[in-house]
Amino acid sequence: MSNIDELIAEIDTFRDARQWRQYHNAKDLSLSLSLEAAELLECFQWQSSEMAVKNNLTNIKDELADVMIYALTLASTLNLDVETIIQAKIKKNALKYPAPTK
Ligand SMILES: [Mg+2]
Repeated sequence: MSNIDELIAEIDTFRDARQWRQYHNAKDLSLSLSLEAAELLECFQWQSSEMAVKNNLTNIKDELADVMIYALTLASTLNLDVETIIQAKIKKNALKYPAPTK
């Protein structure tokens, strides 16, 4: 079992203990992921990147974790293997954005 699988299991255990699985369909998880990404953006609003990181790192960590929790929960709900889909997308990106030759 990978570290990612262990994290997903921990998130699922937290969710199932609260009987939240009934709410976790793909649409609402995608929506929630986007809302948490907006909360992450809010940490940077009206200030430079450097100042935001200096002033809001605790909140940035919390909101980034929320984004990743929803992303992992969505993957779990759709029975997607996180490592497989990320590696596949990196390959697609490499074809779309080839590194310059030296
Ligand atoms: Mg949040």
